[in-house]
Amino acid sequence: MKVLVAVKRVVDYNVKVRPKSDMTDVDLANVKMSINPFCEIAVEEAVRLKEKGIATEIIAISVGPQQCQEQLRTALALGADRAILVSSDETLEPLAIAKCLKAVCETESPDIILLGKQAIDGDNNQTGQMLGALTGYGQATFASELSIDGGNAMIIREVDGGLQTLTLSLPAIVTADLRLNEPRYASLPNIMKAKKKQLDTTTPADLGVDVAPRVTLMGVELPAERSAGIKVEDIAQLVDKLKNEAKVIS
Ligand code: AMP
Repeated sequence: MKVLVAVKRVVDYNVKVRPKSDMTDVDLANVKMSINPFCEIAVEEAVRLKEKGIATEIIAISVGPQQCQEQLRTALALGADRAILVSSDETLEPLAIAKCLKAVCETESPDIILLGKQAIDGDNNQTGQMLGALTGYGQATFASELSIDGGNAMIIREVDGGLQTLTLSLPAIVTADLRLNEPRYASLPNIMKAKKKQLDTTTPADLGVDVAPRVTLMGVELPAERSAGIKVEDIAQLVDKLKNEAKVIS
């Protein structure tokens, strides 16, 4: 079984993002970049499928600038067998990325495509769903458990108030939620081995994909600063403040 795992290069989750001085976008100058945490979970799930003898090959794929090779090498160090970079310096929307992924699905014919549920930079939560629509494959989003039984994938999703179990016939698309697994760290020997693994580069044009933007980013801004809270002495003071200062009770 072939697994394609989509890996996005994003601002590291520990970085406090700031807008550019003209507020047109997030400032990425000298900012640490990493694999999107949900993509790391997707890679881990693929590696576990291989360790169980279910997956035979894991291909990591990233769409973006040449620097995405760093995140692909990390995926290779975590256990992916080879990687594909769809190289582009354009600002890419989820639709453009989903089209690139679809084109690669057509040449690679994976049995399962694993993505993160969401990229922590744009918080789009769109790419897996759009890929589902473009390919016509079944999709299960926000997966918290995944198992494979013959030609089917069984997915458990955490939904409001409970769990939902789905069975999808393969090929299928699954997006990883936080509780799907706890990703491992790449060991030093595996980081060294990853340097020698196959990493192919293509472009959206080679794939016949039009990545022209359909959406314009008008600006970004930080949330308004919140004023500091206070500690009240007792319930009576709390009630007094809610009544007379915040005026939220009468
Ligand atoms: P998003 O729809 O942007 O929230 O992203 C959801 C998931 O789609 C990510 O966790 C990745 O698995 C995948 N994805 C989004 N953008 C890219 C990209 N540029 N390259 C590879 N995978 C991506």
